[in-house]
Amino acid sequence: MSDAEARPTNFIRQIIDKDLAEGKHTAVVTRFPPEPNGYLHIGHAKSICLNFGIAQDYQGECNLRFDDTNPEKENVEYVESIKRDVQWLGFDWAGEVRYSSNYFDKLYGYAVELIEKGLAYVEELTPDEIREYRGTLTEPGKHSPYRERSVEENLALFEKMRAGEFAEGKACLRAKIDMASPFMVMRDPVLYRVRFAHHHQTGDKWCIYPMYDFTHCISDALEGITHSLCTLEFQDNRRLYDWVLENITIDCTPHQYEFSRLNLEYTVMSKRKLNQLVEEQLVNGWDDPRMLTISGLRRRGYTPASIREFCQRIGVTKQDNTIEMSALESCVRDDLNENAPRAMAVLDPIKLVIENKADDVEWLDAPNHPNQPEMGTRQVPFSREIWIEREDFRESANKKYKRLVLEKEVRLRNAYVVKAERCEKDDEGNITTVYCSYDPDTLGKDPADGRKVKGVIHWVSAAEALPAEFRLYDRLFTVPNPASADNFAETINPESLQVQHGFVEPSMQNAPVEKGYQFERTGYFCVDNKDSRKDALVFNRTVSLRDTWAKIEGK
Ligand code: ATP
Ligand code: MG
Repeated sequence: MSDAEARPTNFIRQIIDKDLAEGKHTAVVTRFPPEPNGYLHIGHAKSICLNFGIAQDYQGECNLRFDDTNPEKENVEYVESIKRDVQWLGFDWAGEVRYSSNYFDKLYGYAVELIEKGLAYVEELTPDEIREYRGTLTEPGKHSPYRERSVEENLALFEKMRAGEFAEGKACLRAKIDMASPFMVMRDPVLYRVRFAHHHQTGDKWCIYPMYDFTHCISDALEGITHSLCTLEFQDNRRLYDWVLENITIDCTPHQYEFSRLNLEYTVMSKRKLNQLVEEQLVNGWDDPRMLTISGLRRRGYTPASIREFCQRIGVTKQDNTIEMSALESCVRDDLNENAPRAMAVLDPIKLVIENKADDVEWLDAPNHPNQPEMGTRQVPFSREIWIEREDFRESANKKYKRLVLEKEVRLRNAYVVKAERCEKDDEGNITTVYCSYDPDTLGKDPADGRKVKGVIHWVSAAEALPAEFRLYDRLFTVPNPASADNFAETINPESLQVQHGFVEPSMQNAPVEKGYQFERTGYFCVDNKDSRKDALVFNRTVSLRDTWAKIEGK
């Protein structure tokens, strides 16, 4: 998007425009800093579109930096999934992938500098005591008895921490700031802690790891980040961000700006909760199509463009808000309505026998898109026995039912007009087969005698159709805000996955995974990227054709 008018504006872009106009910066450098402790979700997409989008529009750069200071919770599988998801969303980072752990040596040096300036000390209170001494929002904290150690003693102790001579929890490095500050983050925050953990990037080199607040600002500075964008819960941390950079010898001017997180109804967004769903096997992995992870959305059939469009529509502000799921769904529906080829599938089949049709197979032309002729046509086989949808036939019905009824006519999509003559049922009274006749003079035209046929139903030829499994998804949770439930896992929607077995037209044999199709009248679907086989196709419904929830909720 080079056209300035097409740029979505927001308060952050206004700040950048001003900074550039005033010559505060000549180029814009942003970063997306995920912690590799889970897969990315739709909330991260908001941050990705913001950071990478700004870099694109201002001809700047955006780094991908793994914020990897918690080795116990992180791993390379997450690193790889995050890289893949960012690229799939359509973005590319500047230069190499970066890691905060690239800077561990430098960070150690800056910690030493703070100690030398009398601005950091080695704490030996226990974690519980530290909490107790910190005070509360209404009471100031107390000074630790270790706060006034000499620089020499602190240097020696910090070196001992690094050498592995303190057990976990027995010592940490704290900044010496202000135990009475109204901002809790400024009450001598911990900068380094002891963790005897193997790190996915640095192996066993370190047994002390820097904290987020110390690491993030310095990493930003080292990378020449100009605008460091994060979510609102870090607002108070900005004071510490600035304090660290002001008190070490580093050449830089990054500034942190906060925006509101994306919250979506009927979903959870924290990686801890998503991880719990995966660990407790309440879903089928991080990429379960009901999960609002990027990989789940991809598997479900969401397109990168639809997610970028969603991020653009929701905008970037400082107001906390919760977005309706229908806002996300309408983005993918709009995209697929425009771009997805049409095809026919029958999800819950009953047999339709056309008694006056010969046994041959007739190949009929069907347009791939009703109003995009450039998408071409495909051939669909039409024969004496076809499958139609169980709900598209009734023995009797009123006029509102514009489908097939005994002794009435309906049009088969892309084919002929048929008239139902009689039907057969199984022992339980379920209809198994409908017998009908067809009017061979109605291909692509109305009946010659002027009789009106209003309804159109979809179908597939029984002999040529491919058996397929259809996975129909609903919201994963039954309540709009599952995160606020006592036990969010108990609010899972037991009907969030329904499986049906039916048939698709043969042209779907080689449909690429994840590519969206509109199955006429039943919704948008794609081939599942994990479970589908050439001889056992599996389709995920991305979204229905219309917003059924809006109807249910009376909107
Ligand atoms: P979670 O709470 O899901 O674990 P996080 O903030 O701990 O998320 P990070 O990996 O640290 O996850 O996030 C990387 C970036 O994505 C951060 O800049 C963070 O602010 C941003 N981000 C995370 N969740 C959201 C969200 N819901 N909306 C917008 N941005 C988000
Ligand atoms: Mg985090």
